[in-house]
Amino acid sequence: ATMPPLLSAIANAGRHGVLVKSAVVMERLVQVDAVALDKTGTLTEGTPRVVAVRPLPGSGVGEDELLTLAAAAEHASEHPLARAVVDAARERRLDLPTAQDFGSAPGVGVKAVVDGRTVAVGAPARLLDDPDGEVVALAEELEESGRTAVVVVVDGTPAGLLGIADRLRPDAAATVAALTTLTGTAPTLLTGDNPRAAAHLAAEAGIEDVRAGLLPQDKMAAVKELEAAGRKTMVVGDGVNDAPALAAAHIGVAMGRAGSDLALETADAVIVRDELAAVPTTVALSRRARKLVV
Ligand code: ADP
Ligand code: MG
Repeated sequence: ATMPPLLSAIANAGRHGVLVKSAVVMERLVQVDAVALDKTGTLTEGTPRVVAVRPLPGSGVGEDELLTLAAAAEHASEHPLARAVVDAARERRLDLPTAQDFGSAPGVGVKAVVDGRTVAVGAPARLLDDPDGEVVALAEELEESGRTAVVVVVDGTPAGLLGIADRLRPDAAATVAALTTLTGTAPTLLTGDNPRAAAHLAAEAGIEDVRAGLLPQDKMAAVKELEAAGRKTMVVGDGVNDAPALAAAHIGVAMGRAGSDLALETADAVIVRDELAAVPTTVALSRRARKLVV
């Protein structure tokens, strides 16, 4: 017997590395006319590296100590930035003390007690009080070249900055172009990262509509806004901080490799093979199947 078109489209998507969870999802994919992409782990490879270690003059903290404190505090975090910080400390063969009282806030950063000192690591715009201060200016300088700057705050005082760089996926620009053709609108970038790094990466990928500095609930609100305007929105994310946005979307697509368990469960489709270009391919398959059904 021949397979019904929607089922063979699901099988086909599977061959391209996308797990579409049901025939209903395949049908909903046909209607997608707006796309929102997450940055870290979606548009980028999601394996960032520490490329700058900058203790603040006068803080009394050196490079290795700054990295040790930051890595100890980040040790329990699953965030890609946390992995970058811990890897950088390992590369320098630094001994990491065990942190206590670990806590993390999505879109903000982490906090823990390391050797009796309270260490916070995260977004300068969220952890520092003075948006016009010198430290914020230094952070912005790091961010101009597309890096993410995180500040390390020790016992309430900024001790230094780390510059972290991630690479655009090789198929990001082609994916953006294909999605633009398929849906008739250019995708939007939704990110918790700073506006400078976001704009830099977006330009490389060919995205103009950039919304940066978003908390998970802001990403969800952005999706709900598109839906309220009558757009059938597909959100592609790793779910680390965009699970609410994935759930609010007409179609939520999770990046499988980096994706959190929650995201893989709630998403309508999962990219199993870690290739972003499979997203437009799947939309195209849904449309072809639709033509055969009607
Ligand atoms: P994205 O939307 O690009 O996936 P996130 O919402 O995960 O980004 O993070 C937004 C920002 O919050 C990061 O750029 C960083 O400044 C800060 N942040 C979040 N988690 C951490 C962490 N574990 N360590 C340091 N900074 C963090
Ligand atoms: Mg993310």
